[in-house]
Formats: sequence, C-alpha cells, structure tokens
Amino acid sequence: QGVVKQPPTPSPLRFSKFFQSNMRILVTGGAGFIGSHLVDKLMENEKNEVIVADNFFTGAKDNLRKWIGHPRFELIRHDVTEPLLVEVDQIYHLACPASPIFYKYNPVKTIKTNVIGTLNMLGLAKRVGARILLTSTSEVYGDPLEHPQKEEYWGNVNPIGVRSCYDEGKRVAETLMFDYHRQHGLEIRIARIFNTYGPRMNIDDGRVVSNFIAQALRGEALTVQAPGTQTRSFCYVSDMVDGLIRLMEGENTGPINIGNPGEFTMMELAETVKELINPSVSVKVVENTPDDPRQRKPDITKAKELLGWEPKIKLRDGLPLMEEDFRLRLGVPKTA
Ligand code: NAD
Ligand code: UDP
Ligand code: UDP
Repeated sequence: QGVVKQPPTPSPLRFSKFFQSNMRILVTGGAGFIGSHLVDKLMENEKNEVIVADNFFTGAKDNLRKWIGHPRFELIRHDVTEPLLVEVDQIYHLACPASPIFYKYNPVKTIKTNVIGTLNMLGLAKRVGARILLTSTSEVYGDPLEHPQKEEYWGNVNPIGVRSCYDEGKRVAETLMFDYHRQHGLEIRIARIFNTYGPRMNIDDGRVVSNFIAQALRGEALTVQAPGTQTRSFCYVSDMVDGLIRLMEGENTGPINIGNPGEFTMMELAETVKELINPSVSVKVVENTPDDPRQRKPDITKAKELLGWEPKIKLRDGLPLMEEDFRLRLGVPKTA
C-alpha cells in the first residue's frame, strides 16, 4: 500500500514487442462528427494508437478534446489533398465534408478532397502495407430508381449537378480503391454510409436532423423542404461506428451498405422531433434544393450476413440522445 508501481524499464527488445502488438490507426477526418465518435471507440482499446489527420474545415478540435495529450493519441492539422507520410497499420479515410451546404460551398475543393485525397491515402496505404477503409455514401445511388438500394445497384446520378462534386467524387474514390486493390493488391474496405445522426453533429450544417433539433430547442418552426414526402433512413452514430469497425476487421472488401433501414418521410421526422423535443413548435413547408433524392433506404442484407451487423437504436430512441449535447452547445437549458 502506498507504493507506486513503476513500469519496467523498457529494453529495446521489449519496446519492439510492445509496438508489434499495438495497432497504429490513422483516421482522416477524425475531428468531424462520425470520425470523432470512431476515435472514441478505437481509443477504448488499449492496444490502439490513433493518429487523426484533419484540416478542420467542418470538424473541430473540441470534438477530440478528451484525447488531446493522451499518450496513444496524436492530432495533425493536415489537408489530405497534400501527401502525408506516417507509418500506420490501418487507415479509416473519412476526410470529406458530408453536409450539402459545406460540400457545395467550394465544390472544386470537394472534388479534390475526394479524388486527390483518396489517391494520397491509397498511395500511403500502398507504401506502408496498411488496410484502408473508405467512407463512401448512399449518394452514390443518386436519386435511386431501385428501392431499397442494394450494393449491386449502379445508381442514378447527375454528373453535372450541384451535388456531383460529392456523389461523383465518392464514385471516383470507390473506383480508385478498387483499382489499387486490383492493380497493387491493397487490402480495401468500402462502407456506403446512409444518413447518420447523433451528438456532435454540426449545429448549423443544414442537415435535416440537426436543423430540426436546433429549431425545436430554439422554439422556431421546423422547416420541412417541399414536398415533405421524400424519405430518408437514419442511423444512430454508435451503430454506424460499430459497423465501420466490423467492416475494417472483417474479410470483405465491400462495398457494404451501413445504415438503418427504418424509413421516414421528412414530414414524419418533423412530427417525431416535435413530439419528443418540443410539442409547442410548428412545422412549415419551405422550398427545396435541386436534385434532392426522393427516397432512400438501405438494403442491409449484406451487412447482416457478412458482418453480423445491424443497427440497434431506433429513431425514437436516438433523437432524445442528442438533446443534451445540443442544449449545451445552443445554451438552451432544460426548464422543468
Ligand atoms: P464531417 O463534416 O463532420 O467530418 C468530415 C471531417 O473531414 C471534418 O473533420 C473535416 O474538417 C475533415 N475534412 C474535410 N476535408 C478535408 C481535407 N481536405 N483534409 C483533411 N480533412 C478534411 O462529416 P461526417 O458526417 O463525420 O462524415 C464523415 C464521412 O462519412 C465523410 O467521408 C462523409 O462523406 C461520410 N458520410 C457521412 C454521412 C452522414 O450522414 N454523416 C453519410 C454518408 C457518408
Ligand atoms: N503518397 C502519400 N504518402 C505516402 C505515399 C504516397 O501521400 O506515404 C501519395 C503520393 O504523393 C502520390 C499518391 O499518394 O501522390 C499516390 O501514390 P502512388 O505511389 O500510388 O503513385 P505515384 O506516386 O507513383 O504517382
Ligand atoms: N430537409 C428538410 N429540412 C431541412 C433540411 C433538409 O426537409 O431543414 C430535407 C432535404 O430536403 C432532404 C432530407 O431532408 O430531403 C435530408 O437532407 P440532408 O441534407 O440532411 O441529407 P441528404 O440530402 O444528404 O440525405
């Protein structure tokens, strides 16, 4: 009692053994919404060392504040459109703005991030022999003519529209992944992520769940974009992170849909947020943006069969889990 146990002095041999059993993991875009939750989960495993590379365009250091200074964690301000030299075993490549208002803000940059950024991460993976996972998107299916969307569906995408920098960008990123796999034997994993929500979503990023929750807490009308019958399927972020890690650790390249098949119209979503967060707000229909997909719902048969994964958290249970985080950031305390 009272004796502080000293760690053994590491001999060079001991040191190399220690590092061999460790897994060094690069997370690009790790300061963002999904990335920071992924980092939290990876850091729970004491054998993991995590390096985040992020240019903080839509992410923030604050999302990672609990890890800054941790001996198994490193944060690099880095833009993936520039080459990156690090030695890692795995790469989760998430860097890319995900919300339409941000990816449309500088569309040329979005394309560069998807194409040059993915090329650089593949070059890095090739040099160090790392396994690399790309977070692609349900947007590769465009405005889908098949419903629900299976991985075999090639999509219905406008190549010259205002969303193309993102959806065509991700399609090229997927192509690059498969070409490096076929040509250079790289170990690749592709997740096609469907709409994801949870704490740390950017408050003013225009995405529907963050908009509705912020509006409900501020006592403003919920803005349903016309016609309001368009559908989305929302996955809670902890389920998403679980799916991504299973994909990385499994034996399948993908692409594999990761999402929650529970499908809702935007009007239904507004009514649900209203009921759960603030019954006194109204719902109004506002103008929509071009090329808005009318329906979206993942077929997750592959994820179930190949990864043993399916989402656990229903929308009605997940929405209230965001409330506290949003209240805190918006400065709207709960009144009894
Ligand atoms: P996010 O915007 O919160 O996170 C993206 C992160 O990437 C941010 O931290 C941002 O600063 C960083 N970044 C952007 N461009 C970069 C660059 N050039 N170099 C370095 N860092 C850069 O978005 P998110 O919701 O966490 O999405 C993460 C990934 O998942 C993205 O690849 C996105 O396309 C994909 N995805 C997300 C959703 C969703 O619903 N959230 C749906 C489909 C796909
Ligand atoms: N690259 C990188 N980090 C590395 C190795 C490569 O960022 O550790 C970049 C490199 O700058 C290049 C890209 O990845 O732009 C593709 O590399 P690859 O070796 O596949 O192609 P090449 O350099 O022959 O064009
Ligand atoms: N949407 C809405 N109100 C908002 C923001 C978005 O009704 O305040 C709708 C939008 O028209 C789309 C859906 O919600 O049909 C999802 O939009 P989001 O930007 O969240 O994601 P994505 O279009 O990328 O799926």
